[in-house]
Amino acid sequence: MRDPRFDILFEPVQIGPHTTRNRFYQVPHCTGMGYRHPNAEAAHRGVKAEGGWGVVSTQETEIHPTSDLSPANEARLWSDQDIPALRLMTDAVHEHGSLAAVQLVHGGSHSPNLYSRETAIAPSPTPIDWGGPLQAREMDLTDIRALRGWYVAAAKRAKAAQFDIVYAYAGHDMTILQHFLLSRHNHRTDEYGGSFDNRLRLFREVVADLKDAVGDTCAIAIRLAVDELMGADGIEHQAEGRDVIEALAEEPDLWDVNLSDWSNDSQTSRFAKEGFQEPYTAFVKSVTTKPVVGVGRYTSPDTMVRLIKSGHLDLIGAARPSIADPHLPNKISQGRIDDIRECIGCNICTAGDNTNVPMRCTQNPTVGEEWRRGWHPERVQPITSAKRHLIIGGGPAGLEAARTLTQRGADVTLAEARDTFGGRVTLESSLPGLAEWARVRDWRLGQLNDKPNAQLFTQSPLTADDILAYGIPNVALATGSTWRTDGVGRTHKRPLPFLNAPNVCSPDTLMANGPEQLPKGPIAIFDDDTFYLGSVLAERVANTGHEVLFITPSAIVAPYSENTLEQARIQCRLIELGVKILPLTKLANLTADTITTACIYSETQTTHACATLIPVTMRLPKDQLWHDLQARKNEWADAGLKSVTRIGDCYVPGLITLATQSGYRYGVGFGEAEQAPKREVFVGSGFQA
Ligand code: ADP
Ligand code: SF4
Repeated sequence: MRDPRFDILFEPVQIGPHTTRNRFYQVPHCTGMGYRHPNAEAAHRGVKAEGGWGVVSTQETEIHPTSDLSPANEARLWSDQDIPALRLMTDAVHEHGSLAAVQLVHGGSHSPNLYSRETAIAPSPTPIDWGGPLQAREMDLTDIRALRGWYVAAAKRAKAAQFDIVYAYAGHDMTILQHFLLSRHNHRTDEYGGSFDNRLRLFREVVADLKDAVGDTCAIAIRLAVDELMGADGIEHQAEGRDVIEALAEEPDLWDVNLSDWSNDSQTSRFAKEGFQEPYTAFVKSVTTKPVVGVGRYTSPDTMVRLIKSGHLDLIGAARPSIADPHLPNKISQGRIDDIRECIGCNICTAGDNTNVPMRCTQNPTVGEEWRRGWHPERVQPITSAKRHLIIGGGPAGLEAARTLTQRGADVTLAEARDTFGGRVTLESSLPGLAEWARVRDWRLGQLNDKPNAQLFTQSPLTADDILAYGIPNVALATGSTWRTDGVGRTHKRPLPFLNAPNVCSPDTLMANGPEQLPKGPIAIFDDDTFYLGSVLAERVANTGHEVLFITPSAIVAPYSENTLEQARIQCRLIELGVKILPLTKLANLTADTITTACIYSETQTTHACATLIPVTMRLPKDQLWHDLQARKNEWADAGLKSVTRIGDCYVPGLITLATQSGYRYGVGFGEAEQAPKREVFVGSGFQA
């Protein structure tokens, strides 16, 4: 039963010629599925419509070959040939009574056109953003007329593909409409440059063109970044951000407002909390009578109600919360608040798009596999045989396996050695900024706690003897992994003998005991892992007043975190904390009070004061139990043991998302013949299975 406090979230809202059934709005977001995986894309969006999102949007949709983002994998409406692929999505969304929105984009100087081999275009000559040492040429008035025509042609195709809402998109510093608006990109002296009105001209014209072309059946939305968090060099919400909305206030049927660039819009929980965009977008509704949608990683229904009642927003926008829980609206509607699988703000999803593959989600292992494997975030097949399971280890993999098997109706015993569940997530969520990561543990424990078919035990370190004595037929080993301390990793392929020393401390020990236990003196962190942990340990240690030396073979701190949109913030944070960063270096020696590093190119050595070294290189599976049980296979039948499977980090150490996915895959597939995943094949004018 729905709490009446939340009724306001389920009121319909008029958007141009359409009415959305509630205030839940999945704003455009990339998935990495795009035009190359349209069936997967359609299934992903369909699950959200099924889960109650009143509006479900595409990712950015290229309108023309001069806006080719290859090798990125976005949506396309270059020609009529692209319509059937997008029709898959609109059908999947309409099937559940939701509205389908398409975010038309011309990327201008953000489009390298590597596949189409077209010349990039821009308001003024400029190097392109990425993709090589190429330049965009300045558009003349004929080019501008052509661009307007491309928008109209794409909008007509969108209408043919049955979209209900068509976007003019000016955000993320990735779109030509925004580039014309911004004086740092637009240096023109004709009627499209110079004054604010001139820089706005193209945007105003395109919105009017879209209305003329498809406004009879499609709502026209504007997506505008109202602030770029770069002061007067960019758009600011008290200055031109507001001016744009005042100037075009009643022109669109909907305002979708946010921050630019993408790293500001999709900040991780390490750097920003729920509602972080509110100070920038709060003014919009006072300037327009049209409905306003905004985002801020909202997962709390109370916060959503506050946003509506306070007149801040009309529609609750979400990208990441809708990925982590596609059925979030239904759960609020059904009074199942505790069942909401809250986004943890880790941006593993953005890493999928940034590496041009279907995204994964740490919280929702079914993302990207809705069509390929038929996985569903809420539904599982009941288990028919092999109903008794023992799971050893209560980290993300063990908890997810237990949750999924329990949901299928199996009897599950989960044994955890420590006095708390969560494994690495419990350790890592105590690090600076990562508290929300504990949601990985807490949601799963919440799903298991009241289930009569789940028995959960802490302080239960099991041995092979225990497992054989219990006689539970199916055993999953989710015993995790440990960080190496011998230096082996990406850079050093052989153990470093000088690391066999008492002043080497593993990340596991540091996280368990805290840096307060370490002896006085400078602490060196050798980050060969390239993602978040090295930098967050450096932050933890620096916060206790230790001098910190950050040694990395990479040119920048935590390079993989560029994919999670955090790299610049991480590097700034370490600089602010006074951490001394030594890029392009590796380890050469360690004594009781010094560390010697070597340049990775020249081998030139430098010695620094160092009391303790923390190597963050790679992890090894904690799989002793597996080897013990393999050695006693002849006892299995008498003990009633039928299967032993390693899952999560115990099988291969990796990201937390891989552990939850491994646990899910074990749980959902146990006792079923595994089907080969479906594959997208282009046939005729459409993609088929
Ligand atoms: P994953 O990411 O694969 O879930 P974690 O390292 O997060 O791995 O979690 C593994 C969990 O397994 C830890 O909480 C650890 O205490 C527990 N564990 C390891 N060995 C045993 C064992 N022999 N018996 C019970 N629990 C164990
Ligand atoms: Fe949220 Fe992380 Fe999932 Fe992205 S991957 S939706 S940030 S939990």
